[in-house]
Amino acid sequence: MDITTVTSFRAARSRADLALAPGEAFMAGGTWLMSEPQPSTTGFVDLTAMGWPDLEVDEAGLRIGATCTIATLLDWARGAAGRRAAEGAASGGTSAVPGEGTVATSTHPAATGRWARADALPPVPESWRAVALVEPAANALLASFKIWSTATVGGNLCQSFAAGSMISLAVALDGVAVVWQPDGAERRMPVAELPAGNGANALAHGEVLRAIEIPAHALRAEALLQKIALAELGRSGAVVTGRVDDDGAATFGVTAATITPRVLRFAALPSAEELRERVEGLEGYYSDPLGAEDWRRGVSAVLAERIRSQLQESIAERADAAAVGDAATTGAIAASPAGAGDVSTSPAGTGNVSTGPAGTGGLSTGEAGASPADLGDGADAASPAPSDDGSARA
Ligand SMILES: Cc1cc2nc3c(=O)[nH]c(=O)nc-3n(C[C@H](O)[C@H](O)[C@H](O)COP(=O)(O)OP(=O)(O)OC[C@H]3O[C@@H](n4cnc5c(N)ncnc54)[C@H](O)[C@@H]3O)c2cc1C
Repeated sequence: MDITTVTSFRAARSRADLALAPGEAFMAGGTWLMSEPQPSTTGFVDLTAMGWPDLEVDEAGLRIGATCTIATLLDWARGAAGRRAAEGAASGGTSAVPGEGTVATSTHPAATGRWARADALPPVPESWRAVALVEPAANALLASFKIWSTATVGGNLCQSFAAGSMISLAVALDGVAVVWQPDGAERRMPVAELPAGNGANALAHGEVLRAIEIPAHALRAEALLQKIALAELGRSGAVVTGRVDDDGAATFGVTAATITPRVLRFAALPSAEELRERVEGLEGYYSDPLGAEDWRRGVSAVLAERIRSQLQESIAERADAAAVGDAATTGAIAASPAGAGDVSTSPAGTGNVSTGPAGTGGLSTGEAGASPADLGDGADAASPAPSDDGSARA
């Protein structure tokens, strides 16, 4: 794409460099900015030279630098870094875990002159089950792995498309946007409030998204994400997330189906009826070529119920496993090792992401008019079976 109006480009290396001259706009990965004409922009200010750490881990949670690429976040979430750090520790190296002084090592390649190395990323704390949402969230983008390598998490949030699945991820986990203001101050806002429309954000002119903070309590939660699109490789029509925290509180997020994110909170996992009513009652469902308003409303309720029932099953499994463990500890029953293992060692129970073809999140109904009910029966040959269909269990 020729961006014919742009005549200047400069790299921002300090906070002072972030002051925008008339006609200038911030550029991160540039994957959207360079994909269509920018008639009101005459200059780009490159944020990737700021040298912001990609990922920082500590007791409070995860801090994602706005210029962290989707590929780097995914690499970290896949655990490559953790495995390599463990290998390093075994051979005399140091490991960085919360409470032992944390590191945030990789920075955007533009700042370092080289691409981030997986072994330079902080390890993923074992208790952070919800990290498993990163992969299905990345797969919920229409963008392929080639775009992931350049597109940034912050750029996805600031672009604020309804189908911005880094938004879905952050909203699912109570993400907080850290915003640098032009006067040198800083403010924080829930990521759920950052999008102000489909392709519009709530940042004032000159404000920069510096980072996204994800609290540790949300990262420890069991969490699931489900996506549906009208075409198998199409842009998301609805992305629904759900999680249950250690204290039993449940949070559901509806994105892509609504113009801006919607968050539903419950003291405990709601009943199927209560959840359906709350999801269907949300405001903001809309129609465009990727789905009609009533379809988006209907499929959101279906996806939310799938998540709810899987979370409920999982809670019941864990309660059973705990009961078996208690009984075994007190000697009330003589559980065989095999029997105990049956309860707790299935992949689903240990937080593995569903990685089959349907795990890409492409849950296609094949036709625009497919009724939400069609999603759930699994008998329709055109639809993937409902069991492993684009959900990831954390
Ligand atoms: C093939 C393809 C498929 C795509 N699929 C999707 C999709 O499914 N869903 C989707 O949402 N997008 C999609 N996109 C659009 C885009 O690639 C993504 O939204 C991407 O994450 C944007 O990130 P970026 O770093 O490239 O942003 P850029 O293009 O650099 O910037 C995007 C906007 O955000 C602003 N901005 C960027 N960073 C900051 C910051 N830190 N503070 C303030 N403002 C900032 C820029 O000024 C600009 O207005 C797709 C693009 C392509 C080419």
